[in-house]
Amino acid sequence: MKTDKSRELFKEACRYIPGGVNSPVRAFKSVGREPLFIERGKGSHIWDADGNEFIDYVCSWGPLILGHADPRILAAVMDAAKRGMSFGATTEAETTLAKMIVDAVPSVEMVRLVSSGTEAVMSAVRVARGFTGRDKIVKFEGGYHGHTDALLAKAGSGVATLGLPDSAGVPKGMTADTLVLPYNDVDAVRTLFETAGKEIACLVVEPVAGNMGVVLPKENYLADLRELTSKYGIVLIFDEVITGFRLAYGGAQKLFGVTPDMTTLGKIIGGGMPVGAYGGRREIMEQVAPVGPVYQAGTLSGNPVAVAAGIQMLTILRDENPYAGLEAKMNEITDALAEAAGCRGVGVQINRIGSMMTAFFTDTPVTDYATAKTSDTQRYAAFFSAMLENGVYLAPSQFEAGFVSTAHTSEDIEKTIAASEKALAQLK
Ligand SMILES: *Cc1c(COP(=O)(O)O)cnc(C)c1O
Repeated sequence: MKTDKSRELFKEACRYIPGGVNSPVRAFKSVGREPLFIERGKGSHIWDADGNEFIDYVCSWGPLILGHADPRILAAVMDAAKRGMSFGATTEAETTLAKMIVDAVPSVEMVRLVSSGTEAVMSAVRVARGFTGRDKIVKFEGGYHGHTDALLAKAGSGVATLGLPDSAGVPKGMTADTLVLPYNDVDAVRTLFETAGKEIACLVVEPVAGNMGVVLPKENYLADLRELTSKYGIVLIFDEVITGFRLAYGGAQKLFGVTPDMTTLGKIIGGGMPVGAYGGRREIMEQVAPVGPVYQAGTLSGNPVAVAAGIQMLTILRDENPYAGLEAKMNEITDALAEAAGCRGVGVQINRIGSMMTAFFTDTPVTDYATAKTSDTQRYAAFFSAMLENGVYLAPSQFEAGFVSTAHTSEDIEKTIAASEKALAQLK
């Protein structure tokens, strides 16, 4: 595989951008390579600066559930852009997108649009604190909720990938009220609530963890969290930035039948443009300014071009309901991968739900952050490189999810299976 052009571009980028990237995992550090510079994408495929072509299972880390450059999304974006990029004033389309989210997501009666998932969770936590008059918040080890100070404690995603303890530059005071518990351990939650329950504003959880790699909630775990938070008057926040409109139209809460008090969204609802959203019960959302006392604002919030992409995306997902088809595709891949690994005696734990999955290179079943960390990241790096050389682009980290889109074809899947058989054989 030729990488001369990417190498050259990376060298130049490193002179002006820290690490040459605008988000750390893009640097390919944990897989011991230099990043590829992507030139374009179409459907399930991407092309890099050297002309290499890959089947893409990152899909921009989740947003591109219809694949790259879907013509329907492009048309909506172009049409909106022609009418103006941004007004900093209210447009009808924002109500259209808000209504679609309210109609789809069981917990959401009102919603505020922002520009990223980070902003969505940061704002939801502020609203929960304002609503309850309490300061403490609870999150789980390996849960990633964006890069705001209070939520960077034991965060997954890039923090896990780079093996950082947490982040420098976060004053102790910013995380002093952040309590961190292991995921999937309801007794730990119960014990904490017995002593500190009345001081806790909110519990924020990825209903299906996606940022320590994919980790499914144990049976009844989400329902137990619902019951315990209700008992102590704690706002339950589902961070559905990945799972919203990924696992079902309406998100993980629809799939599992557990309704939180608040929900955060991002990724898919922007159709590839920068959008986030937070919403919840009316009495909670009425805390938000200008109705209530909790301040939150944004120059580009509800940006007309991004909103147009989001409306088009949700319209397609609502009308075409592609979820069963997406799941079948991912199933085909994971079944073949499990069989190929089994035949070759490579220890792999495959966690899949719907169209998202992670193959952890470990013999230990992965149910939380501690077990995810038993993975052999060197082995993952070798697998990643072999797949890349065989035309398949996976996440450049063991601790991330892989995604399929509606654009992935049966030919793509056959090629991916063949590549994974080759890559696993090379691992021995
Ligand atoms: C990606 C992600 C975020 C952060 O969203 P950004 O748009 O990257 O700021 C927050 N929570 C979860 C669960 C995510 O996967």
